Amino acid sequence: MKLRYLLLLGLLPACTSPATTTRTAAPTADARFDRFKNNLLLDLWRLNPDFALSQGFHKYDSLLVVPDASQRAREAAFVATKERALTGFAPDSLSAGNQTDYRILKNELTAQRWRADTLHEWQWNPATYNVGATAGDLLNGRHYPLARRLRHISGRLALAPAYYAAARANLDNPTPEHTQLGIEQNEGGLAVLGAALADSVRKSSLSGSEQTLLTQRVTGARAAIAGYVSYLRRDVLAAGRARRSFRIGRALFDRKFALEIQSGYSAGQVFGLAQRHKRDLLLDMSRRARRLWPRYRAGQPLPADTLVLIRQVIDELTLKHPSRAGFMAAIKAQIPVLSRFVDAHQLLTQDPSKPLVVRETPLYMRGSGAGASVSAPGPYDKAADTYYNVEPLPAAWSAARAESYLREYNDYTLQILNIHEAIPGHYTQLVYANRSPSLVKSVFGNGAMIEGWAVFSEKLLLDAGYGNNSDELWLLWDKWNLRSTLNAIADQLIQTQGASEADIVALLTREGFQEEAEARGKWHRATLSQVQLSSYFTGYSEITALRDEIRRREGAKFSIKQFNEQFLSYGSAPVPYIARLMR
Ligand code: ZN
Ligand code: ZN
Repeated sequence: MKLRYLLLLGLLPACTSPATTTRTAAPTADARFDRFKNNLLLDLWRLNPDFALSQGFHKYDSLLVVPDASQRAREAAFVATKERALTGFAPDSLSAGNQTDYRILKNELTAQRWRADTLHEWQWNPATYNVGATAGDLLNGRHYPLARRLRHISGRLALAPAYYAAARANLDNPTPEHTQLGIEQNEGGLAVLGAALADSVRKSSLSGSEQTLLTQRVTGARAAIAGYVSYLRRDVLAAGRARRSFRIGRALFDRKFALEIQSGYSAGQVFGLAQRHKRDLLLDMSRRARRLWPRYRAGQPLPADTLVLIRQVIDELTLKHPSRAGFMAAIKAQIPVLSRFVDAHQLLTQDPSKPLVVRETPLYMRGSGAGASVSAPGPYDKAADTYYNVEPLPAAWSAARAESYLREYNDYTLQILNIHEAIPGHYTQLVYANRSPSLVKSVFGNGAMIEGWAVFSEKLLLDAGYGNNSDELWLLWDKWNLRSTLNAIADQLIQTQGASEADIVALLTREGFQEEAEARGKWHRATLSQVQLSSYFTGYSEITALRDEIRRREGAKFSIKQFNEQFLSYGSAPVPYIARLMR
């Protein structure tokens, strides 16, 4: 889950007070709460047009909010007003859906106050500030005709100089890593305000004077961005004024974990669980690798080092993979197989009226390195199709690079990826979530629940016998699952225990069987984010524990189909809130 509140920007009068009840009929608690929720979101969108835009809410597209002290005061007033209003509701008097929305909003307001008062990322992360990226979203968006989108860009760019002046004033001893990121991302933003934008302006129906004004504002914005970049490079990095450690330390990590993951476990408990789970996975891998050895290395002596044995068997299994040209077709062919398996084993009810559309990833979304992803309709655009984006291997890739990628997504792992992303993973979860529509859960969807379910669904299928219980598929699932387990371990080792790049690369390559490039990429990501890498394992562990608890209690009456359907019916809420309703 991304930290969307970090970019709170403002230009607007302080928010109005929350819903007031009408005099005529006494509305039910749920009706009152529904009004409160809607007003809260509308106030939030005015306070943070960038966040609104990312959710497909376009009313405030033309507003750029200067991130100065008065904006922070408006945000603090928003939080205080909404927290006060929340005390007027008794959660037990609300419907199940509204009870979870209540808890989600309460947590979100606490988190926003904590980020502003305590975490202070607005002081130490220069990448928080970027005018070009949002201009790019507006330029590429299809929500309004071109001329209207350009007017919105024009309105925003007029304030770019004031925006970057406030950004500079906010920075106070940033981390070198986030300073470097701020330089790179703002250079990317500068590229957005280049030839493509100028071209669009010429092609548009804007009047001559509007075009002139926009061109002037683009020039001013470009100068402000370039000034910020050179400030970061010369006056901050080179001048030795970026000395803060990127490691947030134990106290901040624990609090951030509690507010963002919203787990029943503490960060410390998750670290212990992950260590134990890693040992269990390695044990299972060594058993399976030993059994597989004679099939793939007949007559050769078994390596004495178990980790070497596992690595060598994995290297045999990944030789089986789709061809470069057949990658897309291999994925497409698996979707109906997964769907039939879920039906045949009665794992949950599927909705044939909301088919998943498999397509090649659109050009403007490519290059992230994610082989496959699900594009879900936003909360304000629910009728749109859900896409399974599959990125073809770039033509520019050498044969060796393509081979390494295809081995990573070999015949076994590709099936696990499809379960995770599509059926019954992210896509299926989304279809269920959209059935009990809640804007609050769409906007503040819980990352640990969403990722946890996708990981849980992989194990669900394998436990039900998908892949004929083969040691090959299980061994590669173990490796895949080890990755999210090690993500949780590395996150805390790095952020709270001072682990070095060499420590982490050694851990991930030796005990995680990762390639060095993947391990270095993980290190880089872990220096720039905190807690997010822990979400997959935490959600997975918590859902598994909930299933075990209910299965123990119901004994012979337990139905996995009923568990799955009930679990998914509450939408993308934190697992402990769902657990409370299911108990
Ligand atoms: Zn090959
Ligand atoms: Zn996922």
